[in-house]
Amino acid sequence: MPQNSPSPFGSNEPDPLPTVYEDRKQYIQQLERTNIDLEQRIQSAEAHLHAADSPSPPSVHPLGLPSSGEFENTLRRLVDKIAKILQAEKCVFMLHDAGAATLYATHPAMGFDRDELALLERRVAEEGVSNEVFRTNSSLITYDAALDPRAAAEGLTRLRIHNAVSVPLVVEKRDEDNRVLERTTVGVLHVFNKKYGGIFVEEDVRLLEQLARQGAAVIASAQMYREVVQEKQELLHTIDSLYAGLIMVGINGRLLQMNPSARAILGINSTTPLIDMPYARAISDSRIRKIISAALSTGNAEVAEEVAFNLPDAGVEEQFRERIYQVQCATVRDDDGAPAGIVAIFNDITEIRGVERMKTAFISTVSHELRTPLTSIKGFISTLLADNDNYYDEPTRREFYGIIDSECDRLHRLIKDLLDISRIEQGRAMQMNWAEVNVAQTTEKVLAAQRAYARDHELTMNFPADFPVITADPDKMEQILTNLVNNAIKYSPQGGTVCVTGRVIPSDTDGEEPNSIELNISDEGMGIPREHLPKIWDRFYRVDNRDNREIGGTGIGLALVKALTEGHGGTAAVESELGVSTTFLLVFPIRRAESGEN
Ligand code: ADP
Repeated sequence: MPQNSPSPFGSNEPDPLPTVYEDRKQYIQQLERTNIDLEQRIQSAEAHLHAADSPSPPSVHPLGLPSSGEFENTLRRLVDKIAKILQAEKCVFMLHDAGAATLYATHPAMGFDRDELALLERRVAEEGVSNEVFRTNSSLITYDAALDPRAAAEGLTRLRIHNAVSVPLVVEKRDEDNRVLERTTVGVLHVFNKKYGGIFVEEDVRLLEQLARQGAAVIASAQMYREVVQEKQELLHTIDSLYAGLIMVGINGRLLQMNPSARAILGINSTTPLIDMPYARAISDSRIRKIISAALSTGNAEVAEEVAFNLPDAGVEEQFRERIYQVQCATVRDDDGAPAGIVAIFNDITEIRGVERMKTAFISTVSHELRTPLTSIKGFISTLLADNDNYYDEPTRREFYGIIDSECDRLHRLIKDLLDISRIEQGRAMQMNWAEVNVAQTTEKVLAAQRAYARDHELTMNFPADFPVITADPDKMEQILTNLVNNAIKYSPQGGTVCVTGRVIPSDTDGEEPNSIELNISDEGMGIPREHLPKIWDRFYRVDNRDNREIGGTGIGLALVKALTEGHGGTAAVESELGVSTTFLLVFPIRRAESGEN
């Protein structure tokens, strides 16, 4: 799920939930406004086309638009009409393709087949009648193609063309008062071969210029139509590929849109036709019907509700998982601000809610973890303070001081871990203080400190005599080992041996110096159930089962171990047999990587 989990730290940070929704909501509303705008532009493009010349109603496109065949028909009628009026054998629209810098003949034309039309294509910069009319933006009569070098250059005689009138096709953009704002030459309109052996005269030029205005309007509408259809299709694809579910209902209560995510959430087959169906019939989930009905009836909807759905678990047959969606409705308005319908957006907030739950559980476990050593420290200090008549002898007092000291260490470690994980969580770079570290010595120190808590355990270590000194951060190395040894003791409540083993990993290449070491931290404790193994590295993750329910912890130790190990350029892994043993395996480079920025 492409969402950032909120940090349970840094309470000053704004909760990201409202921002995420607000952004998505605005984005989807924007899409819907564009959709309405496109529909209106399509209608006006259709109106233009049919106004030009269209006795028949438009055929229906799968998207609810007239098909592109409509334009062909319009163009065919237009070239036919122009040829008749000008008494010409042939008529063709040549259009400018700005990208390719060419003029090409549009299909259909009067008196040309498709192959002949292909022959007419010209580069704008070349010689020719079409090119000159387009470049100079002025009309031209070709009295005798055989004698005109421009006609010869264009190969008109090869197409049995004797004479011609050619006028520029100009599209005009006008304002509300019909004043021309912009003129663009989009191509050239030709009529060829005056019938009955006649010749074209100036009057024909005037007439054709007039007809060209109507032609240009049709061409412009067709182009606009194509662009609008394309935009509309792109928009539908965007809506279809949204991760969020989206339903749009018209003001009349009929469905205008339901994307595949919404269908999946509502368990509606992807092939069932729904568009234009009353939403109350299409949607069987009464909670959603209620939300939509409330949104439609207010006219100014800002409804947001959380709804849980049991959805099929991806990849696991016949298994369902609860997903929580926030369903948000908003009114969609047309250009005049009148309500046109509502859009309902389904945002998957399962993960966010999960993190919130984890955050609450985390706060209670951390409070507990802090309180336990504090209670013990307070208890021993109060006892010592109250002992005015030296009831306790010196060895007992020293034992109390020892307990206070190790409980302070425990508090210190916990707070340090919390601060470190918070720093890593905020994406702040880990500050590494590189030094030469004798890992066997660090292990000895860690085991000595842990012995105070491990009366029932045997803490051992096993390092070869020639174990190399490695480049590492000494404090972080200690932190990693302390966390793992501490876990090994904690999760083997019946006692047993905890052993830290060091070994040099031989190099793959013969004769080359080894470049990494491995540390194994093993115990004979309760083990980790197989299904939990991949998750134990996640922050706050704790295996919740009968065996370890009583054992305190925050679930950040292993996340920290992993981050700190990786900060050294190393890797962390685990092997475990339930009820028998657990071994954590860490690999560290002996030398710091050259490119390391830390
Ligand atoms: P915690 O503070 O809960 O110990 P960690 O991140 O250190 O958090 O460990 C995550 C979980 O992994 C623990 O809650 C425990 O269930 C499991 N775990 C860690 N180390 C061991 C171990 N040596 N043996 C068995 N389970 C372990």
